[in-house]
Amino acid sequence: MGAPIAARSRDGGDNLASAAVAASGQWIDEDGVRQPADGVHAWLPGTNQTLCGLALSRSRLRRFPHVPWPEILPESGGSADEVRRVCPKCAAGAMGSRRDQRPWRRTNPRP
Ligand SMILES: [Zn+2]
Repeated sequence: MGAPIAARSRDGGDNLASAAVAASGQWIDEDGVRQPADGVHAWLPGTNQTLCGLALSRSRLRRFPHVPWPEILPESGGSADEVRRVCPKCAAGAMGSRRDQRPWRRTNPRP
Protein backbone atom coordinates (compact mmCIF):
# COMPACT_ATOMS: atom_id res chain seq x y z
CA MET A 1 0.00 0.00 0.00
CA GLY A 2 2.98 2.35 -0.28
CA ALA A 3 3.74 5.10 2.17
CA PRO A 4 1.91 5.14 5.46
CA ILE A 5 -0.80 7.72 5.85
CA ALA A 6 1.08 9.15 8.74
CA ALA A 7 3.40 10.79 6.25
CA ARG A 8 0.55 13.02 5.15
CA SER A 9 1.05 15.56 7.85
CA ARG A 10 -1.28 18.52 7.77
CA ASP A 11 0.45 20.84 10.16
CA GLY A 12 3.97 19.55 10.06
CA GLY A 13 3.99 18.41 13.64
CA ASP A 14 4.08 14.93 14.98
CA ASN A 15 0.63 14.01 13.80
CA LEU A 16 0.70 10.66 15.50
CA ALA A 17 0.47 12.56 18.74
CA SER A 18 -2.92 13.73 17.57
CA ALA A 19 -4.14 10.37 16.33
CA ALA A 20 -7.64 9.53 17.40
CA VAL A 21 -9.56 6.29 17.30
CA ALA A 22 -11.80 4.48 14.87
CA ALA A 23 -13.59 1.39 16.14
CA SER A 24 -16.03 -1.23 14.99
CA GLY A 25 -18.14 -0.89 18.12
CA GLN A 26 -19.04 1.67 20.71
CA TRP A 27 -20.50 2.10 24.15
CA ILE A 28 -21.59 5.06 26.21
CA ASP A 29 -19.75 5.71 29.43
CA GLU A 30 -21.27 7.02 32.62
CA ASP A 31 -20.70 10.58 31.48
CA GLY A 32 -22.61 9.98 28.29
CA VAL A 33 -19.50 9.98 26.15
CA ARG A 34 -19.15 7.56 23.27
CA GLN A 35 -16.25 5.20 23.78
CA PRO A 36 -14.71 2.77 21.29
CA ALA A 37 -15.32 -0.97 21.59
CA ASP A 38 -14.36 -4.18 19.85
CA GLY A 39 -11.70 -3.69 17.22
CA VAL A 40 -9.92 -0.37 17.21
CA HIS A 41 -7.68 1.38 14.73
CA ALA A 42 -5.74 4.60 14.84
CA TRP A 43 -7.31 7.40 12.84
CA LEU A 44 -6.07 10.86 12.05
CA PRO A 45 -8.94 13.34 12.16
CA GLY A 46 -9.37 14.94 8.79
CA THR A 47 -8.71 11.71 6.92
CA ASN A 48 -11.26 9.11 5.92
CA GLN A 49 -9.20 6.06 6.50
CA THR A 50 -7.31 4.46 9.32
CA LEU A 51 -3.60 4.56 9.83
CA CYS A 52 -3.33 1.07 8.35
CA GLY A 53 -5.28 2.08 5.27
CA LEU A 54 -8.82 0.89 5.89
CA ALA A 55 -11.55 3.10 4.50
CA LEU A 56 -13.74 4.12 7.40
CA SER A 57 -16.97 3.96 5.48
CA ARG A 58 -16.33 0.65 3.79
CA SER A 59 -15.11 -0.96 6.97
CA ARG A 60 -18.03 0.40 8.99
CA LEU A 61 -15.73 1.94 11.50
CA ARG A 62 -17.00 4.66 13.76
CA ARG A 63 -14.92 7.72 14.43
CA PHE A 64 -14.00 8.86 17.87
CA PRO A 65 -12.30 12.20 17.37
CA HIS A 66 -12.59 12.93 21.09
CA VAL A 67 -10.67 9.79 22.07
CA PRO A 68 -6.90 10.08 21.76
CA TRP A 69 -5.17 6.94 20.57
CA PRO A 70 -3.23 6.28 23.82
CA GLU A 71 -6.54 6.13 25.67
CA ILE A 72 -7.46 2.80 24.16
CA LEU A 73 -4.20 1.04 24.83
CA PRO A 74 -4.61 -1.52 27.60
CA GLU A 75 -1.48 -0.39 29.40
CA SER A 76 -2.26 3.30 29.48
CA GLY A 77 -5.77 4.07 28.43
CA GLY A 78 -8.86 5.08 30.29
CA SER A 79 -11.06 4.06 27.37
CA ALA A 80 -9.74 0.55 26.90
CA ASP A 81 -12.37 -1.31 28.89
CA GLU A 82 -14.38 -2.56 25.96
CA VAL A 83 -11.57 -2.80 23.46
CA ARG A 84 -11.13 -6.36 22.29
CA ARG A 85 -8.50 -5.97 19.65
CA VAL A 86 -6.03 -3.25 18.83
CA CYS A 87 -5.00 -3.29 15.20
CA PRO A 88 -1.33 -4.31 15.25
CA LYS A 89 -0.53 -2.25 12.18
CA CYS A 90 -2.04 0.86 13.66
CA ALA A 91 -0.41 0.16 16.99
CA ALA A 92 2.98 -0.14 15.36
CA GLY A 93 2.46 2.97 13.32
CA ALA A 94 1.03 5.06 16.10
CA MET A 95 3.54 4.07 18.70
CA GLY A 96 6.49 4.47 16.41
CA SER A 97 9.88 4.40 18.02
CA ARG A 98 8.45 4.26 21.51
CA ARG A 99 7.91 0.57 20.97
CA ASP A 100 11.55 -0.22 20.63
CA GLN A 101 11.87 -3.09 23.02
CA ARG A 102 13.89 -5.69 21.25
CA PRO A 103 15.31 -8.62 23.15
CA TRP A 104 18.59 -8.46 21.31
CA ARG A 105 19.35 -4.87 22.07
CA ARG A 106 23.02 -4.08 22.03
CA THR A 107 24.77 -3.52 25.30
CA ASN A 108 27.83 -1.51 25.96
CA PRO A 109 30.76 -3.76 26.77
CA ARG A 110 32.65 -2.38 29.69
CA PRO A 111 36.43 -2.50 29.92
ZN1 LIG B 1 -5.54 -0.52 11.74
